[in-house]
Amino acid sequence: MIIKDDEFGEVIVRKSPLSRGIKFSVSTSGRLAMSVPAQTTDFWAKRFLNRNREMIREKLPLKNPKEQRARDYQKKALMKKAREYLPYRLEYYAKLYGYKYEKCRLSHANTRWGSCSSNKTISLNIGLMNVPEVLRDYVILHELAHLNHMDHSRDFWAEVGSHDKNYKIHEKKLKHFSPGI
Ligand SMILES: [Zn+2]
Repeated sequence: MIIKDDEFGEVIVRKSPLSRGIKFSVSTSGRLAMSVPAQTTDFWAKRFLNRNREMIREKLPLKNPKEQRARDYQKKALMKKAREYLPYRLEYYAKLYGYKYEKCRLSHANTRWGSCSSNKTISLNIGLMNVPEVLRDYVILHELAHLNHMDHSRDFWAEVGSHDKNYKIHEKKLKHFSPGI
């Protein structure tokens, strides 16, 4: 649910049976997000928001509505670019080195460049479109190697190294970029 607020713009309200109290946070788009107990009505959510205005203003790094929309637009554009590129690049390397994965998922998590699940789904962050190609390829090779090693053991790194001999440098360089957009 979304509440339109004059000061904060669109406020995301997430109703969850698990949440006991009301918690404020900042969504990836810079919007204010509230998690509230499932039975909370709009009336109470708004009332709670009004009561906490000052705290929110002081403590939370929110973007203004104009910035929020700009970011939505940016993200959409990046998603489009990623969709036309990452799944194909993954497929290319999988074929080249004989890996079999089940699915390629595109994500926009703030903290990870990629992941590989035990059911062989590889997730790649759309933020990869903003890093140099060698680093993007490194992440893809890293996740592919996880198909054979679900850990960061020696054997895992040896396998990554067999496809990307500069993997240590690439891993380090990647730290200069942030997956969040
Ligand atoms: Zn890993």
